[in-house]
Amino acid sequence: MQAPSELIRDVYDLYIGGEWIPSTDDERFPTVDPATKEPLTKVAAAKAADIDRAVEAAREAFAIWRDTAPDERGRIVHRIGQLVRKHRDGLAALESLDQGKPLSQAESDMEGAARYFEYYAGAADKLEGTSVPVGPEQVDFTVREPYGISAQIIPWNFPGNLFARGVAPALVAGNTVVVKPAEETPLSSLRLAELCEEAGVPDGVVNVVTGFGDPAGKALSSHPDVDTITFTGSVSTGQTIMKQAADNVTPVTLELGGKNPAVVFPDADLEEAANWISKAIFTNAGQVCSAADRVLIHEDIHDDLVDRIVEQAVGYEIGSGSENPDMGPLASEKQFKKVIRYIDLGREEGATLATGGNALNRDGYFVEPTVFTDVENDMRIAQEEIFGPVLTIIPFTDEAEALELANDVEYGLVAGVFTSDVKRAHQFARQLEAGNVYVNKWFGDTNQTPFGGYKASGIGREKGLEALNSYLQTKNIAVNLAEGNSGDLPGT
Ligand code: ADP
Repeated sequence: MQAPSELIRDVYDLYIGGEWIPSTDDERFPTVDPATKEPLTKVAAAKAADIDRAVEAAREAFAIWRDTAPDERGRIVHRIGQLVRKHRDGLAALESLDQGKPLSQAESDMEGAARYFEYYAGAADKLEGTSVPVGPEQVDFTVREPYGISAQIIPWNFPGNLFARGVAPALVAGNTVVVKPAEETPLSSLRLAELCEEAGVPDGVVNVVTGFGDPAGKALSSHPDVDTITFTGSVSTGQTIMKQAADNVTPVTLELGGKNPAVVFPDADLEEAANWISKAIFTNAGQVCSAADRVLIHEDIHDDLVDRIVEQAVGYEIGSGSENPDMGPLASEKQFKKVIRYIDLGREEGATLATGGNALNRDGYFVEPTVFTDVENDMRIAQEEIFGPVLTIIPFTDEAEALELANDVEYGLVAGVFTSDVKRAHQFARQLEAGNVYVNKWFGDTNQTPFGGYKASGIGREKGLEALNSYLQTKNIAVNLAEGNSGDLPGT
């Protein structure tokens, strides 16, 4: 691994219009290594005036990028993917330091980031409209046009990967972007901006403004010249962004939280279920919107499966992300405190701690893999997104109860069922209220599959070809072939 000093600059400016410029008031703030609490570097703190500059640069560049031939746009975006692949190890090391995740998980994130650019690059010259047969007197067809400026507000759990997930489809569709990474994890976005430039992205097409939710994120999502907003993060911030966007009638794509049920039946392969569930709750220290954080276990296999999950949890090696342990620290002090508060709450609510429940006695934001049993569905730890390595286990007696419990939550991002009964698997897949359902596995999404939430978990879809709908608007063009005025009126 490269030494941190080779990966990280002493200070960072904003990346606007292809140039590195300080924020208008020259303020910077530190980004911290969550494994040590030591500052890694300082980045610029964008203010509303900086957001104005970035949006202006994106507007100017839009005129060029929109009219760049689609195949050329595709080639440039493909080159970004190749560069991400080439620099995967450096990007992963940077992410691991800034975010805290184990190096191997950061590498996987960056592989995924490269894939997003490669995958969408191929779509750039296939964004076709349709021809509508309305009779001999009119030629009618649709074209799919970019919105213009896409604001990308990125969270801190998968920063580099989610930069790619939003920026790649935005670019191939002909939009320009202003990216605001989370204040906790700005470094991978800044590095990715450099790679975009190296790939030949014209100045102003990709802009990165580092800063806080308020004022930077707020100024971006309420900006009258932003044409569409993509946000991934908490429900409450998503609601705030939607309200900020409403004044300008700016469309939003929101991927919000989850409290995702995994339902395990007695006919499941219990060893495999235990493996999937442990991976699904402890990967990235549980800071995953699609984590399996609410496991419903049939009473006949409850104790057996709990023992297997606990055995795995106890065996987790915890350490600094750069040492590539099984689990790293939480990404920030704020998240650490939140997770500890929820663990205390679980105790107060009367759940049983089967394992874990403590912070590690060392520097950094480390929390043990934690499993609560005897959880009731109306407890807050069963209903609220903790976003940490904390599993809540609820027993059930029959299918009907399992389904009712699984859906009895305000979220609907992902859900899963473990069973060897094919009929039951399909019936559950149909009835689970979630945008993504996994059968006998977890994290079954790829770059190619649509991903997003039912209920409070969001609006719109990321990933797959469906994500392009967030970046393209349809224009219908009607051309008169008839002589004179045919007398058509609206509504006919
Ligand atoms: P958390 O609350 O878990 O720290 P959020 O969902 O609030 O995470 O943050 C995700 C992203 O949203 C970050 O980039 C953050 O700066 C941004 N953000 C926070 N508040 C606002 C806001 N009012 N308007 C726009 N963006 C915001």
